[in-house]
Amino acid sequence: MTMVNLYDLSRSELDDFVIGLGDERYRARQIWDWMYGRRVDRFDAMSNLPKATIAELRETATLGSLELVARQQSRDGTEKRLYRLVDGQLIESVLMPYDDDRKTACISSQAGCAMGCVFCATGQMGFGRNLAASEIFEQAMIFARDLAGRGERLSNVVFMGMGEPFHNYDATLTAVRQLMARLKIGARHITISTVGLAPQIRRFADEGLQLRLAVSLHKTVDAQRSALMPVNKRWGIHALLDACRYYVVRTNRRITFEWAAIAGENDTEEEAHRLGRLLSGLLCQVNIIPLNPTGDFAGLPADTARIENFSRALRGYGVSSTVRVRRGIDIDAGCGQLITEVLRDMPVG
Ligand code: SAH
Ligand code: SF4
Repeated sequence: MTMVNLYDLSRSELDDFVIGLGDERYRARQIWDWMYGRRVDRFDAMSNLPKATIAELRETATLGSLELVARQQSRDGTEKRLYRLVDGQLIESVLMPYDDDRKTACISSQAGCAMGCVFCATGQMGFGRNLAASEIFEQAMIFARDLAGRGERLSNVVFMGMGEPFHNYDATLTAVRQLMARLKIGARHITISTVGLAPQIRRFADEGLQLRLAVSLHKTVDAQRSALMPVNKRWGIHALLDACRYYVVRTNRRITFEWAAIAGENDTEEEAHRLGRLLSGLLCQVNIIPLNPTGDFAGLPADTARIENFSRALRGYGVSSTVRVRRGIDIDAGCGQLITEVLRDMPVG
């Protein structure tokens, strides 16, 4: 018999499941509360359930499906986890604690990625498969559970791990709704980062959610962006910016453009002026992240002085930017690509 992963079940599906076991409906509420209120990681801890119910749950159900393969802790407190999925695929997620009590989980939406960005370790791996909503959700759930055990709370989630969330749109949005309903993470504390799939940006704008949207731009000239990010051949900068403007108008929310600063590639003053002109007047900000060098890409991170110049030039166009602090450098905590430092200085709200 195949085991049921309880994280796959909605509240009413859990009712049906519990009734199917021959138990009373109110037990489902108790189990739900243990899972998402108290956040226990095993059935034995559900101490107000009859022993027989616990035994049945153990025989028929699981709490999650991710198998922890490895775990690393950085000197700055960043924690990286590697999981094996039921079919053997591997994914990573990262937890970043900040000084102000914020705890941010960086999670994966796919095993590997089909977008092939040349500077990205995940892109270099190629595509494995889409994750199910429960596999996306569980990555955050595990961190939330561990934090709850220490009296702490997972406050933010960013979709900046492996994969392109908008290439796995439905599961990503289902997982987002689970994060909000089950872990009580506010929409404004959840960020989706996309390589720039224009149709999905429009679709996302129509969802009526208050999430944050980050768009990985990295270049302002089509031929050059296409060389770094092949998806640009399908949706070029013009189409992408059109979709971004639609998002801003529709949601009245600010977009964050991500800029992996690569020495000599996109850290020049000329490029800053082009970017300033491109974004001028749009409700947005730029997050500059020094490139994290990866195996198959020869690029190096831009240096601090260049980044400061770049940022100053952008200001001349009324475009604000932040430079992210690099996190987890000693453990390569990039969900396979980024030395993650995500969103420390992004304003909340
Ligand atoms: N697929 C999505 C989200 C995952 S990647 C996207 O591309 O937006 C999260 C961020 O890390 C993106 O902005 C991506 O461009 C950036 N990134 C990937 N590889 C990087 C590297 N080697 N150094 C710095 N940033 C990188
Ligand atoms: Fe995929 Fe994002 Fe990496 Fe590009 S940067 S290959 S879209 S994970």
